[in-house]
Amino acid sequence: MRVSGRKEGGETRVDPWSQAWERAAAGAVAVVDCGERIPCNPCEEACTRGAIEVGEDICAPPRFDPGLCDGCGRCVAMCPGMAVFLLDRSVGNGRARVTVPYEMGEEMRAGREVWAMDGEGKPLGKARVVGAKKRGGRAGTTLVTVEVDEGWALKVRGVRDRLITLEAPLEAEAEPLKEYPLCRCEEVSGPRVGEVAAEFASLRSLRRFSRVGLGYCQGRFCQDMLRERLARAREMEEGEVGTFRVRPPVRPVKLGKLGGEDA
Ligand code: SF4
Ligand code: SF4
Repeated sequence: MRVSGRKEGGETRVDPWSQAWERAAAGAVAVVDCGERIPCNPCEEACTRGAIEVGEDICAPPRFDPGLCDGCGRCVAMCPGMAVFLLDRSVGNGRARVTVPYEMGEEMRAGREVWAMDGEGKPLGKARVVGAKKRGGRAGTTLVTVEVDEGWALKVRGVRDRLITLEAPLEAEAEPLKEYPLCRCEEVSGPRVGEVAAEFASLRSLRRFSRVGLGYCQGRFCQDMLRERLARAREMEEGEVGTFRVRPPVRPVKLGKLGGEDA
């Protein structure tokens, strides 16, 4: 039976969670938690079993058939919004396994203790890694499986090696000049980004975490500084860091202009 994902599309939706929950008792299955109506369909392309379907309207909600899913995890690695994870309740004893994408610098391996994070980036608590593997998809993405209490199973959306936040005060607070903003749009301080940059394997993951480059200017003013911070922190040449795509329009444009107004 086809089940609509959570991407809003004005459709009558069947709750995907209860279907995935039941199916997960027999082994790993994808849970598609897609809440945005955006032009996006890598999950559909990733699934060679036809379990995910977006269709011709690329903004439509992904429809998911748990009966076709074999829990391979390709869609988890491919989804740019990190909106898909795997759930496996077959371990029993009130425990569940959750597989999420991980793009930070630390190497993950079974036995390691990590922080399980919810969808808002808040820590749920410690969890044990039971599996980690590269699964295609975006460069630097590892699929990390953690075992958690079943009560957390639908809340875990990511893992962290250790807790780092950009809100934590600088140790050198006495030197106010160090608190200059790297990103004015999102008001992110340069020194704080420098402190955490070594934790990230790619410019994209550092950008997503820090929000530098996701504001009004789309990185026009801050991308080079972010690249320089990452290169320095990971002892790379700046050319090795790469760049991120600045989405159009390159400069902010008034809606009236797009509608043909002269002024
Ligand atoms: S886990 Fe594999 S089979 Fe299941 S929906 Fe994702 S890509 Fe398809
Ligand atoms: S790839 Fe991810 S964000 Fe894009 S439609 Fe599929 S689930 Fe949603």
